[in-house]
Amino acid sequence: MKVEQVLEDLKRRFPNEPEYHQAVHEVLESIEEEYNKHPEFEKANLIERLCIPDRIFSFRVTWVDDKGNTHTNMGYRVQHCNAIGPYKGGIRLHASVNPSILKFLAFEQTFKNSLTTLPMGGGKGGSDFNPKGKSSAEIMRFCQAFVTELWRHIGPDTDVPAGDIGVGGREVGYMFGMYKKLAREFTGTFTGKGITFGGSLIRPEATGYGNVYFLLEMLKTKNVDIKGKKCLVSGSGNVAQYTCEKLIELGAIPVTLSDSSGYIYDPEGITAEKLEYVKELKELYRGRISEYADTYGCKYVAGARPWGEKGDIALPSATQNEISGSDAEKLVANGVIAVSEGANMPSTPEAIAVLQKAKILYAPGKAANAGGVSVSGLEMTQNSERLSWSAEQVDNQLKWIMSNIHENCVKYGTEADGYVNYVKGANIAGFMKVARAVMAQGII
Ligand code: NDP
Repeated sequence: MKVEQVLEDLKRRFPNEPEYHQAVHEVLESIEEEYNKHPEFEKANLIERLCIPDRIFSFRVTWVDDKGNTHTNMGYRVQHCNAIGPYKGGIRLHASVNPSILKFLAFEQTFKNSLTTLPMGGGKGGSDFNPKGKSSAEIMRFCQAFVTELWRHIGPDTDVPAGDIGVGGREVGYMFGMYKKLAREFTGTFTGKGITFGGSLIRPEATGYGNVYFLLEMLKTKNVDIKGKKCLVSGSGNVAQYTCEKLIELGAIPVTLSDSSGYIYDPEGITAEKLEYVKELKELYRGRISEYADTYGCKYVAGARPWGEKGDIALPSATQNEISGSDAEKLVANGVIAVSEGANMPSTPEAIAVLQKAKILYAPGKAANAGGVSVSGLEMTQNSERLSWSAEQVDNQLKWIMSNIHENCVKYGTEADGYVNYVKGANIAGFMKVARAVMAQGII
């Protein structure tokens, strides 16, 4: 396999899909050497079979707003690979959603799910519907309309969606309700469900908590204590909130949060009480993070991201490509010792190069944010058993999974000078398992 050649070919066949090309490039670059040790892979054209999704559904979603006006959006589901289990991955509702973004996310999800050790394939879905400013009734009508088309392509052993940007417990509930009505079954076809109808304890917390558990493993390799460390967190949604919650519990000090309008910097630290305010602000009132600054009298910077502020650790938890090369240079100049990604692909290739050159601890989302889908996998298991596990049981499993992922990254990513290249480690460990499964199942 020659990476440039594969990429050129993908760009020619699927033009105007920069996020998809970027994600494929990152993975292929780091697995090239390992892949080329297996001539049987090349003969089976494995690389194309793993880069191109099994199938993509796209459909029109029509819904009516509170004033009686009719709107149309595009809906999609990308089923990337089911070699090691049913397709599994979230639904994103955001105005920016397009096939390129969902193809990148489904591709990444496949190798992330493989890393978790649980039997899950990779997929992703979503719509360019913008949930901002919509009433609950409008959200419900949209979710129902979306599932009216999606339901025939999913199922507990086929494809199991979950939440992502713009999709939390409320939206999963509406989607699951409509699915249940159409499919006439009560199964674990969605994860992230409410606790009274098959959801798992710790699922809302899992991505943020898991990211901090992964960070702890990285810090352990350097004998660094997290206590007292100032943390730059971006986003203020699900992942950012539970990242902060765990950081606070462990005595670290989150000092920033953001949304798509700007960021806040609270030098006193975001405390448990202030975090409760953020949860209410974002989940109940759907407000803007600037209101935090008004309430607590701290700095708010509109139209910017928090990477220029002073901190010891960065945990990007908003969206893709939110740390540019120059942002990464600022982080390094400010003495940041670790970057652990809660979001998917938040660092650009230029940023990754800067962080790795500086030899700081850098964990890609594929490894560090795998806690969310891991607990989704545990939710599927509980649904199959028709049992519910205690919070402690799920949290212990989550810790074990994150530590196992870390171990695999170290195993496959340690370089000659001892530096752990977590990108390489995660990509090789995730990729090789899927590759072997695809090979064993013949040319299909
Ligand atoms: P939420 O919708 O709960 O929160 C997203 C946050 O990111 C909001 O604060 C939002 O601000 C901000 N944001 C979204 N888009 C942009 C943008 N283009 N520029 C700046 N800020 C933006 O989503 P999650 O917390 O669930 O997801 C965050 C990230 O974590 C995503 O990359 C997601 O794929 C990833 N992830 C999530 C998992 C989960 O379990 N939820 C699992 C694994 C990864 P605003 O409100 O202004 O839009």
